[in-house]
Amino acid sequence: MKKRILYTLLYTALVVVVVILVFNGLQGNANEKKEISSSEFIKMMQDGEFRFVLVVNNNAVYAVTQENKNKINFDQDNSKISDDVMRKYEYKSSVTYTEEFDKLLAETQAKYPDTFRYDILHQSSPWYLQFLPYLFLMLIMGVIIYIFYAQTSGNGKAMQFGRSTAKLYDESKKKVTFNEVAGADEEKEELAEIVDFLKSPDKFTKMGARIPKGVLLVGPPGTGKTLLAKSVAGEAGVPFFSITGSDFVELYVGIGAARVRDLFTQAKKNAPCIIFIDEIDAVGRRRGSGIGGGHDEREQTLNQLLVEMDGFIGNEGIIIMAATNRADILDPALLRSGRFDRQVHVLPPDTKGREEIFKIHARNKHFAADVSAHEVALLTTGFVGADIENLCNESALLAVRRGKTEIGMQELKDAITRVILGPEKKSHKVSDHERKLVAYHEAGHAIVARSLPHCDPVTEVSVIPRSGAGGYTLTRPNDNSDTYSRRYILDTITMSLGGRAAEKLVLGDISTGASSDIRHATDLARSYVTKYGMYDEIGPIYLGDADGDEIFLGRDFSTHKAFSEELSSKVDAAIHEIILSADQKAYQILADKLQILHNLAEVLLNKEKITGTEFEAIYNGKTLADFLAAESASANADSDSTAPIAPAPAKA
Ligand code: ADP
Ligand code: MG
Ligand code: ZN
Repeated sequence: MKKRILYTLLYTALVVVVVILVFNGLQGNANEKKEISSSEFIKMMQDGEFRFVLVVNNNAVYAVTQENKNKINFDQDNSKISDDVMRKYEYKSSVTYTEEFDKLLAETQAKYPDTFRYDILHQSSPWYLQFLPYLFLMLIMGVIIYIFYAQTSGNGKAMQFGRSTAKLYDESKKKVTFNEVAGADEEKEELAEIVDFLKSPDKFTKMGARIPKGVLLVGPPGTGKTLLAKSVAGEAGVPFFSITGSDFVELYVGIGAARVRDLFTQAKKNAPCIIFIDEIDAVGRRRGSGIGGGHDEREQTLNQLLVEMDGFIGNEGIIIMAATNRADILDPALLRSGRFDRQVHVLPPDTKGREEIFKIHARNKHFAADVSAHEVALLTTGFVGADIENLCNESALLAVRRGKTEIGMQELKDAITRVILGPEKKSHKVSDHERKLVAYHEAGHAIVARSLPHCDPVTEVSVIPRSGAGGYTLTRPNDNSDTYSRRYILDTITMSLGGRAAEKLVLGDISTGASSDIRHATDLARSYVTKYGMYDEIGPIYLGDADGDEIFLGRDFSTHKAFSEELSSKVDAAIHEIILSADQKAYQILADKLQILHNLAEVLLNKEKITGTEFEAIYNGKTLADFLAAESASANADSDSTAPIAPAPAKA
């Protein structure tokens, strides 16, 4: 913020300097030399063109035209006329040549030269043009002042530093109700009580019940926490004040605390209402943590929040809702009874939930009749609500780009891949060698996955580059399994190493393309040992998260090695062993199925992308020649109704 003001000032100074230079330049350019004959000069005098004429010394003549006419300097040696002399004669009334001019000439013993040389010193412009630079300056100053006030006051309310930037969500404009939230039945049930309380608080207070003050929505990003909070306000028909945690931790020290105070004052005036603090982890993180110093602005804000929450009894009709995706990093004081003592876990949707969410977002879009919400739900394992919304939009965009009148299943499928992997980079040029490498790499993943009993089924293999990857092998994870079996993890590690193993087997070399596979495999192996306790020799001991978040947050910074050196080297050895044996296993599988590997790579190089069904056929012996034969046969028969790949849209 402060930086921006500085930039503005610098920028303005630059503009001012440029403006001044330009105007000076214009004036300087007007300084042109001219010559007129003496008779012409005398004619001009007679016509009263001059305000005054001065003859100095020998034959230096100086003349200034009347107002708004050219100021002319008759001079053979300009420097002889000093400022003093000019000033002395300036206000003399106009001289006429007959009287004073001759006298002046006589006084200075000047004679008429044949010609007078003169400079037009100043093209005197109309008065308003002379004011132009000053107008510019004033305008710029005005803008600076405006910007400064606008920045410091948030909404243009000058100098009100401490006002909260809470947005009052107007529920009359676009009312969100529980109907807009799909697949979150349990969550809605838990929140229904809150709605009830906001609607009729007396019912509860008469009974002597203590109403919960704070409700914390916990769940991964995009699962609809913000949406749920809004829908509670919409259901109850009360105002909704929303602020984001990072809004508190902005600008200047002390502002955060002031904003909290103001937010609660505003809410009390509007009770019953909901205060919603989105992404509360930005301000509510455990105190005394964080690497960048503890006692800062954030803590002050958090303290103020705690004070305000304690400051009302809870029966005033204000419910504080907050959302976070990491409840474990919040300060325990926030979660104590009487504060956010109620937690609602918002989980990623299951198949049925995804089906319902899809239906909601499909409402205002034109989907083809053959699009089944159930099928979409099956294809989108792991998607959260925000992903599904994004998917609907992406598929609509694809349909428009393909010139269709409605969104078909093919657009949806392509959009799913797009949401998972980012857009295809078809124009990205790759060398033949690189293409071959990618084809074998992906074929390796797919065949290893298919050969292992506990891997997810392969749904798509492609060698079309995507952002960050040369190709990809998609598998469909088992639905709703947050918990994985030991065999599943080991097989998945092996599958991750399948790409690299294929490169080694066929090309006798390995590429850098496998680096993210290696990382994935290693992370899984580490979790296998340290988190899931699946490695027999070490047993079920929790040895810390593999993802290192705790360390990143600075908590337990000095004590995170809570286990001995001996154990730690055992862990390293275990991970090492898991990876090496998985690598060997992948290599062995591919060596046994070398012909299938060649066939698959060949098909991939030709077709670029194949479906799960096609992959299954290749795994069972189908070759590229079979594919090409089938294609030409179906082209001859002119019927493609059973073609496994949807025909490409007609190209004009
Ligand atoms: P969060 O706050 O948990 O990160 P949001 O509430 O911001 O997620 O969700 C983003 C968008 O995703 C919403 O605006 C909505 O369109 C969509 N969405 C998420 N969950 C659902 C759901 N359960 N039902 C319908 N739409 C959802
Ligand atoms: Mg949100
Ligand atoms: Zn890979």
